[in-house]
Amino acid sequence: MIEIRLHGRGGQGAVTASRILATAAYEEGQYSQAIPMYGTERRGAPLTAFVRIDNQRVRERMLVHEPDISIVLDPLIAKQQGVVESLKAGGIVLLNTAMAPEEVKLGGDFKVATVDATTIALEVLGRPITNTAILGAFVKVTGALKLESIEKAIKKYFPGRLGDMNIAAVRRSYEEVKGPIQAVVKSGVQEKMDLNVGGYGVLKDVSSWRVFTPEVDVDKCISCKACWIFCPETAIQWDEAKKKPYIEYNKCKGCGVCANECPVKAIEMVRVEV
Ligand code: SF4
Ligand code: SF4
Repeated sequence: MIEIRLHGRGGQGAVTASRILATAAYEEGQYSQAIPMYGTERRGAPLTAFVRIDNQRVRERMLVHEPDISIVLDPLIAKQQGVVESLKAGGIVLLNTAMAPEEVKLGGDFKVATVDATTIALEVLGRPITNTAILGAFVKVTGALKLESIEKAIKKYFPGRLGDMNIAAVRRSYEEVKGPIQAVVKSGVQEKMDLNVGGYGVLKDVSSWRVFTPEVDVDKCISCKACWIFCPETAIQWDEAKKKPYIEYNKCKGCGVCANECPVKAIEMVRVEV
């Protein structure tokens, strides 16, 4: 049996990725199971999903506690979740990062592979939805499933042109993945596993959730307050003296609502450098 754990954020498609993997395995005549772990997640919040694949009936119904493969859809989530916690000896962690595997500060008896799924998703899909942009890499580094089966499964979830675009993302990640190599660095960054680290803007620092950061051009701003009204995290504050908004970045999850609502495009979403 192959057991897989996916780490992502609400909006990145981790749950859909788990379903695509399970469906692809089914297409190959295997037994499979996809288990989403829903809590109070919302867009940007860390979440986890699980997959089991076997050539005989899968009877386990619990969460995957000791995965063979850990798939990490978000470049920053390793700061919050123990992405290699309880990974089986000899297992693989596949990370969405622009770094090469040898630059990744993770150590232990497992292998590391990397792919810049965010860039692939942005360039192919136009949005940072990294689920399909990491699945081609999964096929290449694990050999657990065939590329054709993943593509067939994607067609079921995304018909038409959207399916073609997601398949293009899969193929590109298959070509661009680096590794796997043996992890050697003992960094101590991986601490106790917390599968479901939530967060609320007013209570916790959610700055690590961002793929994009809002930047306000106060010269363009016409002081309409739309961003202040619509920000779901109360990250936008109002400077009464200047009659302009400013952002408390520790509360900002990078959802882009403010930029969408601004009538004069005074807010630009700028990609976070990791
Ligand atoms: S991106 Fe804008 S709307 Fe979203 S949390 Fe940050 S400041 Fe608020
Ligand atoms: S929505 Fe745009 S114009 Fe209105 S206050 Fe915010 S930044 Fe200024």
